[in-house]
Amino acid sequence: MKVLFPKNLVAKWDQALAQSSHIVVATHINPDGDAVGAMIGLGSFLRQQGYRVTCICPSPYPGFLAFLDKEKQVLVYSHQKEEVIRAVDKADMIVAVDVSGLSRMEEMGEFLLRIRAIKVLMDHHIDPVVEDFDLVFSTPQVSSTCELIFRVLNSWKPDAVFTRDQATAFLTGIITDTNQFANSVFTETFHVASLLHGWGADSETIHSAVFQHFTLNRMRLMGHALSNIKMLPQFGAAYIVLTRDVLESCDYRNGDTEGFVNIPLAIKGISISALFLQREDHIKVSLRSKGAIAVNGIAKQFFQGGGHYNASAGKMEDDPGKIEELLKEALGTIIA
Ligand code: 5GP
Ligand code: MN
Repeated sequence: MKVLFPKNLVAKWDQALAQSSHIVVATHINPDGDAVGAMIGLGSFLRQQGYRVTCICPSPYPGFLAFLDKEKQVLVYSHQKEEVIRAVDKADMIVAVDVSGLSRMEEMGEFLLRIRAIKVLMDHHIDPVVEDFDLVFSTPQVSSTCELIFRVLNSWKPDAVFTRDQATAFLTGIITDTNQFANSVFTETFHVASLLHGWGADSETIHSAVFQHFTLNRMRLMGHALSNIKMLPQFGAAYIVLTRDVLESCDYRNGDTEGFVNIPLAIKGISISALFLQREDHIKVSLRSKGAIAVNGIAKQFFQGGGHYNASAGKMEDDPGKIEELLKEALGTIIA
């Protein structure tokens, strides 16, 4: 496998671990498949090496990812603040996964920033906030954080043995972040997927848990999304708005809209898609694109966010009436 990071960086990680016994693995708010897969896979691998590991995230992960957290070991800051604080207080090392900086962990991130433990970043976003960390393993030249971590672990421990559950966790992140190998795929991604399969990763379980565990309400919400796609053919774009009323009528749960933003990309001629989700006090904006069209620039410029070339997100003021105008203005800057 091609080496991602210089040997001396891996050696520093090894030295930092030699001085650690309690490790906290932390990820971003509203964690997705890559975040949870990376946290559980890395946490379990480190535990296997003899470390005491606690996995923490700022808010709950969606129910369809519960199959990765078999031992219900993940602590959720919004619900278990005291347990999280206790674990972090004991930690010698904090590994942040699938975030470019601690600010994507919101209040929990502010708290982590003040802690004196060694801080390590393992991530695949652009522009890592290097000043937040002592060691940085970060490159956008991988499909996912799960791919990156698996490759780092292989260079750290070339004779490493992975369990079926660890392999399943890592493959989940690759499958979800690449939208089932449709985008952000590198040659090495398939190699890693093949190795994970060799370690027993259960792709059928992943597929069934992630893509075939809809509640009826989630399916009805998707029906609403499908029936209300708005087309902007002049930009090769389409978008979906899900207002609070609609979300409430389908008894919305965290994660219910996972993947909906990709739906319009299935329409012939559509290369940019957007999903607007009305939250309590703002509208969450998700953007996706195909090929050479980048959406991270408009996510940053128009929606106070950012992300990857073809998958970004941000937010806007809580006024659904302004969505189309703002989206058109943004698209006008990237589509001639
Ligand atoms: P999603 O639409 O799945 O919520 O987010 C897509 C991608 O955008 C994420 O994988 C993440 O890289 C990025 N992203 C999401 N929210 C933010 C944000 O608030 N700021 C930045 N910089 N990136 C974000
Ligand atoms: Mn990711």
